[in-house]
Amino acid sequence: MIYLDNNATTRPAPEVVDAMLPYLREHWGNASSAHGMGRMPEGALVQARSQVANFLGCQPAEVVFNSGGTEGINHALRGVFEAFPAKRHLVTTAVEHSALRSVAAWLQRQGVEVTDVGVDTEGELDLEALRRALRPDTALVSVMAVNNETGVVLPITEVAALAKERGALLHVDAVQAAGKVPLGPLVAAAGLLNISAHKFHGPKGAGALYVRRGLRPRTLMLGGHQERERRGGTENVPAIVGMGAAAELASACLPEVERVRDLRDRLEEGVLAAIHEVRVHGAGAPRIANTSLLGFAGLEGEALLLKLDQQGICVSTGSACTTGQKEPSHVLRAMGVPVDHARGTIRLSLSRETTGEEIEEVLAVLPRIVQELRNLGALAR
Ligand code: PLP
Repeated sequence: MIYLDNNATTRPAPEVVDAMLPYLREHWGNASSAHGMGRMPEGALVQARSQVANFLGCQPAEVVFNSGGTEGINHALRGVFEAFPAKRHLVTTAVEHSALRSVAAWLQRQGVEVTDVGVDTEGELDLEALRRALRPDTALVSVMAVNNETGVVLPITEVAALAKERGALLHVDAVQAAGKVPLGPLVAAAGLLNISAHKFHGPKGAGALYVRRGLRPRTLMLGGHQERERRGGTENVPAIVGMGAAAELASACLPEVERVRDLRDRLEEGVLAAIHEVRVHGAGAPRIANTSLLGFAGLEGEALLLKLDQQGICVSTGSACTTGQKEPSHVLRAMGVPVDHARGTIRLSLSRETTGEEIEEVLAVLPRIVQELRNLGALAR
């Protein structure tokens, strides 16, 4: 099996699984318990918080553990608008993950005005439009650090400067940035930033929200005193321990992204050399090292995905969350990609575990499959 769907989820690293197991087998106590069984889990939370804080480049007290990206986004957006009801305007982008778009739509139903800033044909944010969108009543600007479909890197430092000028808070969805770029500069720019462990070789069901010291978004999950009253509920200690280990590994492995970039570039060169009428979405913009979103004219991305799956190659048609929908994704629509190239789009996302042999194997089968599907399409016309 060749796994090229790492933007959907990554394989938990063996070190991560090893770190988690004792907290399932032996140290399964409640971290809040005053007796002996609470001691190891409590200590593990302290260690994981420090590992995640090092990964983010912030203080341990600024880390709120949660269940992943979706929860972090809900907490940040809903928490800010509940905490600061005087300001009722949200600025975000047209290419955010569906988790964020759903929360923005919900806020809109609660009377918050939402402005979506567009991107150009390469997926680059229109900073001038963002500047114009900001108003005195803008409470929050929410921009993703890296787009999950195209891998395009958004200009967070510039966005932060504009937001600051207007007195608005900045939230960054850094789910696809974690493990691929240093997070320190993003955290320094943002008031709130969320990550998700399963995107950087950690377990599913664990994530973190960075909340800048002094900032107090309303608590989303009301309950016990956990996370200094910022997120109620018994902590998922094994998963949090796994996230801590994954964060430490991801920092240590960061230099490997250059090798991943070489593999991704080799993949794209090979595809462009062997297949005509193919487009690399976002190729003209700064992109993260691991992602390649390829649009093939004259075929359906879904059919290509299934054919590759039969060969043991796992890819996606874009965002894992929109799979099964017939419409081109909102990201490609925002980029104005012609329908023909949008429909025949697949995303290949590599990881530090991807090998050169795997890329060569994909290049050995992809041109033939694309040709077969195009021939079938031509016959049907
Ligand atoms: N934000 C982005 C950019 C994502 O890619 C994802 C997951 O695909 C999420 C948020 C949601 O994260 P989670 O799966 O941890 O809820």
